[in-house]
Amino acid sequence: MIVTRFAPSPTGFLHLGHAFAALTAARAGERFLLRIEDIDQTRCRPEFEAAIMEDLAWLGLDWEKPVLRQSERFDAYRAALQRLEADGLLYPCFCTRAEIAAEVARAIEAPHNMSLGPEGPIYPGTCRHLTDAQRRERLEKRAAYALRLDAQKAADKVGALSFTEKAAGPQGEHGVIAVAPLLFGDIVLARKETPASYHLSVVVDDAFQGVTLVTRGNDLFAAAHIQRVLQALLGLPAPQYAHHKLILDPSGKKFSKRDTAVTLRSLRADGLTPYHIRLRLLG
Ligand code: GLU
Repeated sequence: MIVTRFAPSPTGFLHLGHAFAALTAARAGERFLLRIEDIDQTRCRPEFEAAIMEDLAWLGLDWEKPVLRQSERFDAYRAALQRLEADGLLYPCFCTRAEIAAEVARAIEAPHNMSLGPEGPIYPGTCRHLTDAQRRERLEKRAAYALRLDAQKAADKVGALSFTEKAAGPQGEHGVIAVAPLLFGDIVLARKETPASYHLSVVVDDAFQGVTLVTRGNDLFAAAHIQRVLQALLGLPAPQYAHHKLILDPSGKKFSKRDTAVTLRSLRADGLTPYHIRLRLLG
């Protein structure tokens, strides 16, 4: 049984890119689920969630109920973090964004010290090197901190891993892809104001919802590497992946929330029907 999901964040109205992602997931799945990725409560709004459901229904999609909301899953994320913590794979990071930027700028002077990950420069590991005493002192001062994964320890623990890519990814990859566990470096898994990062919450929830095939845009292809590592560390099953093309604007860029002309509601107001949308996107 192939189980797929569409996992939008309710931070704006759905546009053509989302419609393609949702239609792709619904077509690929024998069961099709919806997950609302609303961890960032400062950006997510209930009216956008309502609009997402209205637009998907208008497109003719039907998803299994109940809908999973990430804002209701904080206990599950905490439990996952506790497990990683108990395995000695996390460390607190007290660096501010400005300190990291300064460290990275210094590293640019000596480029052999800096590497670039899929989400930008890789964290230089400053807080990984703190002594126990330094760590205690900072924790006692209650400095705000993030929890980072020690990527090298994680790599040593999981050993060789792979994931299955069923569509051709951005570089045409499909088949069995060897995981590069250090690709993202020591990623942040939780912050004071965000109890779980995107990678952690997605992995926990895909397993909880029984998703067997993750379909999503190929801008997230690299994410499968670190998500596969987290699945292995947490003893979760590995879904297969099918990263699809992105629907781009005429200048070749991704649609942004500001491109109001391509939201499904404005296309609908212009008189387009779901049939037109499907024809334009799926041919
Ligand atoms: N919430 C993510 C997005 O809106 C999708 C996450 C995923 O499919 O893994 O792009």
